[in-house]
Amino acid sequence: MKVLVIGSGAREHALCRSLSLDPDVTTLHCAPGNAGIAEVAELHQVDALDGKAVAALATELGAELVVVGPEAPLVAGVADAVREAGIPAFGPSREAAQLEGSKAFAKEVMAAAAVPTARSYVCTTPDEVDEALDAFGAPYVVKDDGLAAGKGVVVTDDLEQAKTHANACDRVVIEEFLDGPEVSLFAITDGETVLPLQPAQDFKRALDGDEGPNTGGMGAYSPLPWAEPKLVEEVLDTVLQPTVDELRRRGTPFSGLLYAGLAITSRGVRVIEFNARFGDPETQVVLARLKTPLAGVLLAAAQGTLADFPDLRWSNDAAVTVVIASHNYPGTPRTGDPIEGLDEVAAQDAPDAYVLHAGTKRDGDAIVSAGGRVLSVTARGADLARARERAYAAVDRIRLDGSQHRTDIAAKAAAGA
Ligand code: AMP
Repeated sequence: MKVLVIGSGAREHALCRSLSLDPDVTTLHCAPGNAGIAEVAELHQVDALDGKAVAALATELGAELVVVGPEAPLVAGVADAVREAGIPAFGPSREAAQLEGSKAFAKEVMAAAAVPTARSYVCTTPDEVDEALDAFGAPYVVKDDGLAAGKGVVVTDDLEQAKTHANACDRVVIEEFLDGPEVSLFAITDGETVLPLQPAQDFKRALDGDEGPNTGGMGAYSPLPWAEPKLVEEVLDTVLQPTVDELRRRGTPFSGLLYAGLAITSRGVRVIEFNARFGDPETQVVLARLKTPLAGVLLAAAQGTLADFPDLRWSNDAAVTVVIASHNYPGTPRTGDPIEGLDEVAAQDAPDAYVLHAGTKRDGDAIVSAGGRVLSVTARGADLARARERAYAAVDRIRLDGSQHRTDIAAKAAAGA
């Protein structure tokens, strides 16, 4: 099978890594990719937001499956354009991707499907904002309605800050604060059958102890030793399947990766948000544990044949990912710094630990930083403590001037807390 992956983050590197290990994949292409992906796939330049250009590239390459990684191309209709060219695409249509593209739309779908979520108001005027903030009280949860790369949400005890954020957006969702640990659960779906993956937890704040600003994600781990064994089944029955059924009923079936961001509250599981694609960095740990070859299941989702697909197989190993970010991330990150130590990790830690690239590019013989999140160091082990040790041993070999990473990824879970 010839496969084309669209995107350039560590999530796409994780996807490409798994696809490159799949014996059914004969040729792997990625556009635009990054310096790490170049080691497992042939790279191509394309405007990932231009559906016609992506479809033309896929046709030219003879791709038999196109996997669209990030949300922006999905919301721009790239998967639709690929399908119109007669090529199976893994990823929802523009309309179904509104589940991520508009928080107000997601709330409406959840209400129609009786999916448990935070109570909320959609506000467009300062008066409505004041009323909604007053109704829920602190801590205030204010979400920009549109796509904001995980950075459009403000959770604060400060009423003025909540108002300032709300009034800077055209349309906001203001909602009840959900207390309790967060879980990311992904499912692969063809619009009808839903195959849940294993749950993961990510770390959104920049600094240790969940301090500092929100980021795209600073690390992740899987499995979750503290979670109820029935969690996946429960979320499948109460969240994933009803949502997929509701979108199909509306004539906008969702095929691709449905990501449920959940809060495990004292009153039960609640949906914090949906995403329409693999999450980054959770994908790095989830795929590290998936034993079923990836291409077949993604193709079955793209072709609507998941009902016949055998159960997914999982490793009992635990996996931990630690993100190395540029100086000043998540502000304006400094880029262009050389990255050293990658060869040492490959020589000394593989295959139990490996480095997935995000914002990197080649500069002559060197690999240099080219974005906010630069590397996802991922490791497996018999348990979380072992996986953690290996991940941090590999992190310590990497040298990137001014870089930052959290030192407490999976620490509590590994200690049984
Ligand atoms: P979102 O983009 O909706 O996932 O929000 C980003 C982060 O804000 C989430 O991962 C949560 O940590 C936090 N958050 C969002 N909604 C709520 C809520 N209703 N209650 C508490 N925290 C929330």
